[in-house]
Amino acid sequence: MLVDAAAELPPRSNLTDITATGADLVVFSGGKSIRGPQSSGILAGRRDLIGSAFVQMMDLDEHPQLWAPPPELVDQTALLGGPPRHGLGRGLKVAKETIIGLLTALELFESGQYDVEVERQRIILDKIVKDLQGLPLSCRVEESLDGESSPLLEIALDESVLGRTAFQVCRALRDGKPAIYPGHARLAKGSLMIHPLHLDEDTAKVLARRIVEEVD
Ligand SMILES: *Cc1c(COP(=O)(O)O)cnc(C)c1O
Repeated sequence: MLVDAAAELPPRSNLTDITATGADLVVFSGGKSIRGPQSSGILAGRRDLIGSAFVQMMDLDEHPQLWAPPPELVDQTALLGGPPRHGLGRGLKVAKETIIGLLTALELFESGQYDVEVERQRIILDKIVKDLQGLPLSCRVEESLDGESSPLLEIALDESVLGRTAFQVCRALRDGKPAIYPGHARLAKGSLMIHPLHLDEDTAKVLARRIVEEVD
């Protein structure tokens, strides 16, 4: 069983908890909450399967008698033809810079250094709520329970007063300048979702202004 846990971080305990449930392999995105390079990710789980993926990554220009892969990952006696050439995974090669970038980001994520930002994100969401007062909508900030995840802002539109659906407002925000992509998970319920991870005070102001323009 391979678990797609791309977006299951935080909490950082999931880095080990999901494999501990018995999943054979677990994959995490490196470009989401870990904040590593966008094209990176982490494959965790059973050592023999990781070793198999490792072998598929290789395109070695190495003499068969000299090739010495890490014995804890690769059983060389099983590879009778010597070092593999042109493994399936080579087309998905990860650059050295990307690996270092991901490891650096993982260290920051794992040590809890991102946690202080939760408070900053809450303040930014509160400012957006203030800017949206007096409009045909209601705002609710959803706190995270784990103290590591971002709070989320749900903006429930009064569609009957507006005469527009949340889908239509979302489309208009996407098509506007700058393009804004609210979370779409609750559009059918009439709500736009705002994830503050990449918002700062200036971009939050622009976001609020664009929503005001669409619903006022
Ligand atoms: C984001 C996401 C992906 C893609 O992961 P990337 O490493 O960012 O390409 C896959 N599955 C799920 C469930 C995701 O949320």
